[in-house]
Amino acid sequence: MSERGMETRDTPVRITHVVDGKPWTGKVGRTADVHEPATGRVTGVVDLAGTVEVAAAVDAAARAAREWGEVSLARRTRVLFAFREAVVAHREELAAVVTAEHGKVLSDAAGEVQRGLEVVEFACGLGHLLKGSHSENVSTDVDVHSIRQPLGVTAVIAPFNFPVMVPLWFVPVAIACGNAVVLKPSEKVPSAANLLARLWSDAGLPDGVFTVLHGDREAVDGLLDHPGVASVSFVGSTPVARYVYGRATAAGKRVQALGGAKNHMVVLPDADLDAAADAAVSAGFGSAGQRCMAISVVVAVDPVGDDLVERIRDRMAGIRTGDGRRGCDMGPLVTREHRDRVAGYVAAGVAAGATLVVDGRDVVPDGSAGGFWLGPTLFDHVTPDMPVYADEIFGPVLSVVRVASYDEALALVEAGEYGNGAAVFTNDGGAARRFARDVQVGMVGVNVPVPVPVPYYSFGGWKASLFGDSHAHGVEGVHFFTRGKVVTTRWVQPSHGGVSLGFPTPT
Ligand code: NAD
Repeated sequence: MSERGMETRDTPVRITHVVDGKPWTGKVGRTADVHEPATGRVTGVVDLAGTVEVAAAVDAAARAAREWGEVSLARRTRVLFAFREAVVAHREELAAVVTAEHGKVLSDAAGEVQRGLEVVEFACGLGHLLKGSHSENVSTDVDVHSIRQPLGVTAVIAPFNFPVMVPLWFVPVAIACGNAVVLKPSEKVPSAANLLARLWSDAGLPDGVFTVLHGDREAVDGLLDHPGVASVSFVGSTPVARYVYGRATAAGKRVQALGGAKNHMVVLPDADLDAAADAAVSAGFGSAGQRCMAISVVVAVDPVGDDLVERIRDRMAGIRTGDGRRGCDMGPLVTREHRDRVAGYVAAGVAAGATLVVDGRDVVPDGSAGGFWLGPTLFDHVTPDMPVYADEIFGPVLSVVRVASYDEALALVEAGEYGNGAAVFTNDGGAARRFARDVQVGMVGVNVPVPVPVPYYSFGGWKASLFGDSHAHGVEGVHFFTRGKVVTTRWVQPSHGGVSLGFPTPT
């Protein structure tokens, strides 16, 4: 097997862990094939960590954390800035790796790199972010100040759908705060993490502060149980998020576990229907629907249903599905199993009586016959009892539900299991404001279909979309990756007052 970057079209590369700044040279246990979704070829074989690799990774990270936590804010800031430059210089390479293993089109992969980069830029302000507060003379001659200190070794467990952006939601913030990070990427898209490790090293980050540990459930369990891991930041499906949260909190760790989603877009009668149709198609089929902030349900409030469905269908006819390196609009699904699962939902929607307006199973892709293709699919007259409505499909399947009123639309969103994002399309400011206040989700868009917050706000959902109470990045991210301490100080003066056994009260 060749190294990543040196491969020919027929030789799968070996993708291994990066522990203490170096590729893993120890014994290798299980491995998994890595596919190129646009062709179906096996392009890599990734090592899957067991307990030995987990222990080695956490030990190296713990040693590195002790030193990195003592490094001055000035030096840490310089590393963050250098990493920012390294990501900028390699943004095309990062995007190409994402497209190769995930399948999303290159422009979409470049967008994900950009959104990750913005979190790095946020973390460059660590000197400001880590400032404590100071109160003078809280009692006579007594001052109080607060400080935030690193946790030690933090674990980040990422999903397949954003191989660069999701790790960068956490890693730069954790490192800026003085921690070491062990990243466990998705075994379906492992290479981007190794490229990030190289860029951290180029930026001057000491060995061991950023570790890549590849693997599946065994590696995750090892991290959740390891006493040397202080916190876990997880992103993935809801059942696994719930499991990770339960197991890691039982082991005494600080945990934020972001789960799945089923995001609604409510279109009110006064909305600009062309803008709404553009938004529904972009947010429904971008990344082939494999985004936790994808719109999967359009709620058409009477009487806009017929008009809106027609406009969405017209726009879908212009989507070119194919290889993401050929200038297509929509790529393949990540694996053959996932493609077949999503196609199964299309069949289930038909069987349940929804109107199949556009059938993505008929797609003729601009790509290899071996790719995991499914074209954009549109259902109308979907009802909440149908699996196509209730389940997170995570593919290019958009459902339209028709309702009679704003209240009915809101009740529909309300009844859902998830609470990640929701959008309202309207020209009525009062209605938009009411929606933003009423809706039970973590991120709301007003005429914005994918309301992913900028990094100085925090990203995260409600209900079954997040276990734990800390969202990603922003001030919440800084708090998650640090522990607060409050110091009360008195410098003894000639008249210090002598012994007193009473409870201290300000004087
Ligand atoms: P997944 O839950 O299958 O995997 C996520 C991570 O957990 C991977 O690293 C995987 O190796 C590991 N894992 C898988 N099964 C496990 C198990 N049984 N025990 C322990 N670890 C396990 O998710 P995925 O398919 O990679 O990603 C898609 C999901 O992620 C979707 O549900 C999507 O909505 C969600 N997601 C959520 C957000 C968010 O911000 N809320 C963002 C991106 C993706």
